[in-house]
Amino acid sequence: MTDFTYSLGDDGVAIITWDVTGKSMNVMSLAGFAELDGHIDTALADSAVKGVVITSAKKDFAGGMDLNVIARMREDAGAEPAKGLFDGVMMMHGVLRKIERAGMDPKTLKGGKPIAAALPGTALGIGLELPLACHRIFAADNPKAKIGLPEIMIGIFPGAGGTTRVSRKLGAMAAAPFLLEGKLSDPKSAKNAGLIDEVVPAEDLLTRAREWVLSAKDADIVKPWDAKGYKMPGGAPYHPAGFMTFVGASAMVNGKTQGVFPAAKALLAAVYEGALVPFDTALKIEARWFTNVMLNPSSTAMIRSLFINKEALEKGANRPGVPDQTVKKLGVLGAGMMGAGIAYVAANAGIEVVLIDAAQDAADRGKAHAEGILAKGMKRGKVSADKMAEVLGRITATTDYAALDGADLIVEAVFEDPKVKAGVTAQAEAVIPATAVFATNTSTLPISDLAKASARPANFIGIHFFSPVDKMMLVEIIRGKETGDVAVAKALDFVRQIRKTPIVVNDARFFYANRCIIPYINEGIRMVAEGVAPALVENAARLVGMPLGPLQLVDETSIDLGVKIAKATRAAMGDAYPDGAVDEVLFALADQGRLGRKSNAGFYAYDDKGGRLGLWSGLAEAYPVSDTQPELTEVQHRLLFAQVLEAVRALEDGVLTDIREGDVGAILGWGFAPWSGGPFSWLDILGAERAVEICDRLTATYGARFTTPALLREMASKGETFYGRFTTAPAKAA
Ligand code: NAD
Repeated sequence: MTDFTYSLGDDGVAIITWDVTGKSMNVMSLAGFAELDGHIDTALADSAVKGVVITSAKKDFAGGMDLNVIARMREDAGAEPAKGLFDGVMMMHGVLRKIERAGMDPKTLKGGKPIAAALPGTALGIGLELPLACHRIFAADNPKAKIGLPEIMIGIFPGAGGTTRVSRKLGAMAAAPFLLEGKLSDPKSAKNAGLIDEVVPAEDLLTRAREWVLSAKDADIVKPWDAKGYKMPGGAPYHPAGFMTFVGASAMVNGKTQGVFPAAKALLAAVYEGALVPFDTALKIEARWFTNVMLNPSSTAMIRSLFINKEALEKGANRPGVPDQTVKKLGVLGAGMMGAGIAYVAANAGIEVVLIDAAQDAADRGKAHAEGILAKGMKRGKVSADKMAEVLGRITATTDYAALDGADLIVEAVFEDPKVKAGVTAQAEAVIPATAVFATNTSTLPISDLAKASARPANFIGIHFFSPVDKMMLVEIIRGKETGDVAVAKALDFVRQIRKTPIVVNDARFFYANRCIIPYINEGIRMVAEGVAPALVENAARLVGMPLGPLQLVDETSIDLGVKIAKATRAAMGDAYPDGAVDEVLFALADQGRLGRKSNAGFYAYDDKGGRLGLWSGLAEAYPVSDTQPELTEVQHRLLFAQVLEAVRALEDGVLTDIREGDVGAILGWGFAPWSGGPFSWLDILGAERAVEICDRLTATYGARFTTPALLREMASKGETFYGRFTTAPAKAA
């Protein structure tokens, strides 16, 4: 198998073409790197070669490093992983540096061979780091192409010279969006930013690169940082302007990451320290920090959950083997907040939608919701007038169930009331084909109970969206007792069409996501009732990587919803109901009309425009803060274990059947500390033995809700990890 081919033209320009066999997008592997190295050696050694163009035979240049290679780097690095990783990264630096120096005399900087990169399309990660080592970067004028270094998004940073080269090329300030935020640009914007050198018509790409190679002079191929008197644009750290940049960047990184994402901090350190030393030493520093990040279990856990496993689930890792179930006509019942959102995402994905509500104006309001989202997109230049008309043209807003004729999927999102739901189920089933699948978007009612209203329970399923539908990427698919494989496949194919990420779970109270998130909120509220400072609760959550503290979260989702859920749960559980202390606080706030953000009053105080001012001062009066406060870690353990124990129980109970879904679902569904890779990954990082120890102590101090699950105890006694124990099960293989 070859990844790169080599050919020498009559004009003396060698063309190295990247074309990984069997893949639509080039990705770099270690073997590929070795091949590239060999071709560079050939070109530099052959006196007939005047210069080189590196390009791709595919429509894009490259998507980056093969993520599976990155995820395994630590394990593959040998008995001394730090040394193995560092040596591996230095090998890459060696190859790229060889390209950059291109055989020139290191003293006179003369005699090197010009090497240009010609990018037909997207160039990401190592797919841009390689061009950055070349002497000139040409990109085809392809507005769809994305150029950038997205490594930070997967919990690492550009470690093949991208960090050092981009910061030296643009200066720390201008490099920040590309390195720290992983900003991607089209070729023209990338040229304007100084990331690449030329944008040329696609058909001229190779010719222009060749011409440049043949006309380049010695001085054209010396990088600024290799020339005498190089100064970092915008100033190095000890320059007054540079000093300001680095101080500001450090504060910004800490503010954004709360110190829990190791990559951003390491990246900044690599840029800062690298700026103080010569280029080759800077590369070594970059390699050391990269090794540091790769050795942190957070990076591999994030890559595993957020990329490898997320993609596996999107590609149907748990899809039953039935024929394609692509949705052609969707019926949405209930045009409220959820129904309107579902209608929009489906129409946007090209599906014909009938949006039904009890009254025409309600149905119209639902369609207007889609119009609002599209209009916003138009303002930002992301949506054309044609596209808007096309998407809206796919939505029929009506009260007439007859319009559902021929629909192959229904998603019901009417009031959370079994009677109302039963009514619309019967009405829809009277019209739709016998093969159509009926899905409910209920968030609390058991699917198997709602299925009783259906004449075809095998075709009845839960498709649980999260709010706001257009932004939240997770969709929870719930199998009822009688749900058949075709319905599951239909739901999965629908989720694929609307480009979201599915998890498939079995039917139980609150399914998976809400089952874990409710104890998190409750634990936060419980602490307030105990006299723990509310600010400590909120900050502890943020500092462990939760996007919102539990009190802010309940304000956002609304306190009256919390009251409703508490009442329903109490009714279902009777004497076993454990959350009386929580309800006291929740009900008291609701009684005072403090319903959260929607009423501009909740655990937080808000200004007239809805801006959050800070924790409500009345809280301290009702629940005085104790003189002695718990340690930060104790609060964090309570907040995290409240969630992860529920995830483990969901696995024990068979609600979850695949830990990958548990991890991916947690991060996408409620933002569970993404740095950890999800609840199961976090427990693996912690180690089952230590987790049991903490659980036992929490149980002794705070009660039975922290009881160690038998599964975890068994794993601790056997020294097992979740990913060691579960991912190899044949039924769950991707
Ligand atoms: P909503 O009150 O905003 O919308 C419900 C809509 O259903 C209203 O427009 C109402 O007019 C319509 N409706 C009621 N009875 C009807 C009938 N007989 N025929 C046709 N239309 C009827 O509620 P929502 O927040 O959109 O929630 C809808 C469903 O989604 C509920 O089951 C809820 O539990 C679930 N859900 C809500 C959220 C959330 O965050 N709001 C998240 C996930 C799931």
